[in-house]
Amino acid sequence: MLRAKNISRVFPGGLVALQGIDLRIAEGDFLVLLGPSGCGKSTLLRLIAGLDKPQSGALIWEQKAPAPGGIGFVFQDPTLMPWATAAENAALPLRLRGQDTGPASSMLTRVGLAGFEHARPAKLSGGMRMRVSLARALAPRPRLLLMDEPFAALDEFTRHRLQSDVSDLARETKCTVVFVTHSIYEAAFLATRVAIMSARPGRIAATHDFATPITDRLDPAYAARVADLTHALGALHAG
Ligand code: ADP
Ligand code: MG
Repeated sequence: MLRAKNISRVFPGGLVALQGIDLRIAEGDFLVLLGPSGCGKSTLLRLIAGLDKPQSGALIWEQKAPAPGGIGFVFQDPTLMPWATAAENAALPLRLRGQDTGPASSMLTRVGLAGFEHARPAKLSGGMRMRVSLARALAPRPRLLLMDEPFAALDEFTRHRLQSDVSDLARETKCTVVFVTHSIYEAAFLATRVAIMSARPGRIAATHDFATPITDRLDPAYAARVADLTHALGALHAG
């Protein structure tokens, strides 16, 4: 779908946020960018979203770049309008483009919010607000969904449920996902590919391909992936 070739991003003042990033995102990938705070994960997502330009290198779309609505974005903060209902929030991108808002209501149901359509964000839990944000991003059926530490502020029980649901949803909707996290466990659970990033300057230190996503946290394959990624990160710090 997309190739990043030798991308660098240097901020004014000389901070090298990204250097020599080579990355391939294939249709159907659940790619997790795993790395410590400040290693340039959000900067890389912004470049992929087209919200920022690299100093050197190129992002090459294999078909054509997605149309508006072709890329969905979910952040750690659900960024909902406080005065609007769950249904109105989820429908916003479709409404702004003058499209039918029906898919937003079906998506709200799909993310488990049937019965909460008319609730305002203040009446919803943190997990439910994140579900509205997810429904809003998925309703226009994006080809690519970019997620920037979406579950970092949630408690562990809620986080586990949302991880399982996002994993199922990505497969069901055949959406390609680039998901940023600093959690090894989250990466091991969700990813079909993990790109491990190292900090200053931000580089891709290693990539790991996993054939199938994990569906059961008690599956020994999950523990094995956690061990693989822990080992890879350890090698990085030793080097
Ligand atoms: P991450 O998401 O991995 O935590 P970021 O991509 O947000 O990292 O930031 C990478 C580095 O670039 C950090 O050192 C950060 O302080 C710096 N940075 C990010 N955005 C800007 C900006 N607009 N101007 C200057 N420095 C920035
Ligand atoms: Mg970030």
